[in-house]
Amino acid sequence: MSDLASDIRACRLCAERFAATHTEHEPRPVVWFRPSARMLIAGQAPGMRVHQSGKPFDDPSGDRLREWLGLSANEFYDTSRVAIVPMAFCFPGYDAKGSDLPPPRICGRTWHDRVMQELDKVELTVVVGGYAQKYHLGVKTGVTETVKAWRDHAPRLFALPHPSWRNTAWLKKNPWFEDEVLPELRAQVQKVIHD
Ligand code: SF4
Repeated sequence: MSDLASDIRACRLCAERFAATHTEHEPRPVVWFRPSARMLIAGQAPGMRVHQSGKPFDDPSGDRLREWLGLSANEFYDTSRVAIVPMAFCFPGYDAKGSDLPPPRICGRTWHDRVMQELDKVELTVVVGGYAQKYHLGVKTGVTETVKAWRDHAPRLFALPHPSWRNTAWLKKNPWFEDEVLPELRAQVQKVIHD
């Protein structure tokens, strides 16, 4: 593990913030990258299940994301090839309605630029969800509009909706995503992973 990855793993900047949430949890940064990675999955923040397992996308959202990418679990979790870097490394807790809170901004401000500098071999970036799209693309558009403009960034970057079950209705409403975007994405993933 790099010094930077070790520093993030030891980070407790949000301890008070997390202690004040309904779950009163402690920070547990889920750090999953090595400088050799050629593909970056830029996400939002771990959910409760990933907070407990310590493994990113170790949940039904991850199953759907791996299917979208055309990657086996072994390929997906191979840190020598794939880096998984969320906008916050820790589970942020729940809001009053039981939804995940947004990723704390302090995490992006503290760590993100340094992580991106370390990942200088990345050839393909997959940006999952609105928070990561704002950072990596600098866009102010909504997720649908951003994903729909995929040709503006392909083949080096693809913006995806979050693979959560909450977006199943979105997938039904936007069939162009599975028909047009995913085949191009899978082809690019195979190229970068196996070249
Ligand atoms: S979310 Fe980020 S800044 Fe906050 S404790 Fe975790 S690693 Fe540190």
